[in-house]
Amino acid sequence: MSLADLHCHSTFSDGRLTPTELVDLAYRNGVRIFALTDHDIVDGLPEAFETAARYDDFTLIPGIEMSTDVPGNEVHILGHFIDWHDDAFLGRLRRLQESRVGRARLMVERLVELGKPVAWERVQSFAGDGAVGRPHIALALVEAGHVSSVNEAFNLYLSRTGPAYVQRDRLTPEEVIGLLLGVGGIATLAHPRELLAAGNLESLLEQLKGAGLTGMEVYYQDYLPDEIETFRGMAERHGFIPLGGSDYHGLGGPQQREPGNIPLPMEPVEQLLELARERGALERARVAHAR
Ligand code: AMP
Ligand code: FE
Ligand code: FE
Ligand code: ZN
Repeated sequence: MSLADLHCHSTFSDGRLTPTELVDLAYRNGVRIFALTDHDIVDGLPEAFETAARYDDFTLIPGIEMSTDVPGNEVHILGHFIDWHDDAFLGRLRRLQESRVGRARLMVERLVELGKPVAWERVQSFAGDGAVGRPHIALALVEAGHVSSVNEAFNLYLSRTGPAYVQRDRLTPEEVIGLLLGVGGIATLAHPRELLAAGNLESLLEQLKGAGLTGMEVYYQDYLPDEIETFRGMAERHGFIPLGGSDYHGLGGPQQREPGNIPLPMEPVEQLLELARERGALERARVAHAR
């Protein structure tokens, strides 16, 4: 178990736990430095900060995970220590939310055409007030009995190459890193394994470095020791801080790890905090862990 977890999702995107439940679970698991990183939304942060204030030895970092697209692939970028009150940033996120709704509706239409109908109301209900995404459609497919699990829903219909897939608004990694740096954030590449298959990860890392990327997830979810070694080597070669998180969603599945259940060492986390301090961004976190 690690004292830190820098990547988790709540009900404000596609996680199953509320920010309060998530912070409480992370704390119970021994996590003392935590980031809430919902997909393209920051609306869960007020509740997370409120809950974090119950603990006198718990650091909460305001975060977000943003989806970007490169030809043939999807690249997720984490932003930590963002100024999440910035009006222009909030406006941009609101437009992204709206485009997610339109795109989810199109995917529901595709499923109807495929003879696997789900009700839009059910998708909406699984999404609640948060950012609607493919996992909510997957849950509706499970509920309707068309598939037996969320994973099967992705494998048969919702993956990038699946018959019901529809693209979101396309943002390049450069645009997103620019947005995150614009609100004082520190940008980290999420789950690099998904990018290995395309075969040009090294050149992508070069490209992201040029755009202002600082960190790279290395200690992630179910990554095995030899994968961690591979990614740690890559991070080192490109000068990225080797960070990580559980990416806990609470939806189950064999790859799921609980908050803190990752081998993330504290040294890179301290490096991240130090960088935030240098940039004057540390004050946006609630810093209260024993050092
Ligand atoms: P969206 O942002 O709507 O495109 O949905 C992307 C989210 O779907 C990811 O962040 C994951 O949470 C989830 N996801 C992607 N692929 C899978 C998969 N094969 N099985 C389960 N969840 C997945
Ligand atoms: Fe997700
Ligand atoms: Fe992701
Ligand atoms: Zn995530």
